[in-house]
Amino acid sequence: MKQLVHAEAIPSPAFHEPPTSSLRPFISLEAVTKRYPGANDGDIALRAVNLQMEQGGLIAIVGKSGSGKSTLLHLLTAVDRPTTGSIHVNGSPVHELDETAGALWRRASVGIVFQFFQLLPTLTALENVLLPMALQGHIPANAREARARELLARVGIADQAHKLPATLSGGQQQRCAIARALANDPPLLVADEPTGNLDSLTAEAVLLLLRQQADAGKTVVVVTHELDIARVADRVVTLADGRVVADKVRTSTPNAGVTAR
Ligand code: ADP
Ligand code: MG
Repeated sequence: MKQLVHAEAIPSPAFHEPPTSSLRPFISLEAVTKRYPGANDGDIALRAVNLQMEQGGLIAIVGKSGSGKSTLLHLLTAVDRPTTGSIHVNGSPVHELDETAGALWRRASVGIVFQFFQLLPTLTALENVLLPMALQGHIPANAREARARELLARVGIADQAHKLPATLSGGQQQRCAIARALANDPPLLVADEPTGNLDSLTAEAVLLLLRQQADAGKTVVVVTHELDIARVADRVVTLADGRVVADKVRTSTPNAGVTAR
């Protein structure tokens, strides 16, 4: 009871330092350095980054342009490999995966949302959501269309299923991209500036949609410039010059003001 009174006195939102250790984090980066070929000494994208994330929740990665945010996401999703250090996601040593193994792992394990949506322009919204299921194959063929329609409904664009991306608004395209990212029901969702190409109202809706995925049990990692990301994030990690310079975990329930759990 004393705690609750204390929590109510703290201005919203309340954040604190993350726990320093966990027996088996969902995501673990250990001494991760990334130096792109040809980069000089002062130009290292990530410098000895140590970062652990628990399963579930929305983690925001913020920082100025060039601070290493996209590099971090590329390494987490096996799109690229660290120069040194190790990365484990849900038990998989993703730093060891080559291009082919990385692509196979990614299809089953990660949903990715991009700033410019990257839907296939010749496929309808429905077909864009069906494609990852066809490529991955663990969802039975006869269940895929119903699942794709259900996902489009979940993101609020069931009525747009038959349309080509070019005939959808930016917000609708991003909703479709989120449905596509969920197609194979991956435990991890990552988004790189998912609201960077949207007006502020649409951006808010997209962030809330990502928040809902976190509430449904997904681990959602979002790189963003949104200044008020702290309102929907459970944790905010700040990068500067390839280093983690701040790392704050929310102590209160997102979107609920300051309430004791
Ligand atoms: P952010 O997403 O925070 O803007 P990035 O991760 O894209 O930052 O970039 C971090 C640093 O790495 C920058 O200095 C950038 O110029 C450099 N960088 C990113 N991608 C490449 C690449 N493919 N080749 C060489 N340098 C790169
Ligand atoms: Mg970037």
